[in-house]
Amino acid sequence: MPVLLFGGQFLFARHYRAKKQKVISADFPEAWNAILLKNVPLVSKLPARFRERLETNIKLFIAEVGFEGQGGVQVTDEIRVTVAAQACLLTVGRENKRYPRLKNVIIYPSAFTDSQRSPHYNSEKPIYRLGESWTTGTVILAWDSTRRGALNMHDGQNVALHEFAHQLDQEDGVGDGVPIFETQSAFAAWAAVFTKEYEIQVKKATKGHRSVLDHYGATNYAEFFAVSTEAFFEKPKQLKRKRPEIYKILKNYYHLDPITW
Ligand SMILES: [Zn+2]
Repeated sequence: MPVLLFGGQFLFARHYRAKKQKVISADFPEAWNAILLKNVPLVSKLPARFRERLETNIKLFIAEVGFEGQGGVQVTDEIRVTVAAQACLLTVGRENKRYPRLKNVIIYPSAFTDSQRSPHYNSEKPIYRLGESWTTGTVILAWDSTRRGALNMHDGQNVALHEFAHQLDQEDGVGDGVPIFETQSAFAAWAAVFTKEYEIQVKKATKGHRSVLDHYGATNYAEFFAVSTEAFFEKPKQLKRKRPEIYKILKNYYHLDPITW
């Protein structure tokens, strides 16, 4: 029944637009500002011209993405705002840029194992993780690491920025270190820089040489993008000095220049 279906979709779209407008026009709660001030110092550094967009995106993120606590976690506004703010920092440079695939965020109190995530998973040696991002629209985070990562904004370690970078990479359905680009030339520039810089990273990791990027970035292209993103926001000066081409390509992708913050 195509007519009815169309009518249903039309009503749904109208309802969605009205709901979205209501969220956008609501004031940003004072209590949320206090959480940002306390937990996400990077937000205070953000140039004033981005502030309104960040607040709008945080409001929409919290209204649209489901949060679920596991392992005894009760999801609070502190958790929602701390996670949403970091996710939205990645997209604040681009107008209307959101996470189209993201449906829910699952929060564990601390590092979690595969068997905790899925009762069917049996491993003799459990692997502990701080975060995950799935192409099916789920991000999983360990709350203690998420909070610590946000509080220390200069160590290049930030699990929330890392996992949401994966989520951006996975927007096209594949986690391969190649997110969606606005132009073909931006993609070509990315491919040239990232393949070359990834090889450098693999060499550094193999030889145990010091690097502004965590050696974990040498795992594959997807991790290289996520690790580079952490450094871009948390160690912009060092990244620009040591790996200027990565800094430039990420600056173009995120439409942000954290070195000036
Ligand atoms: Zn990763």
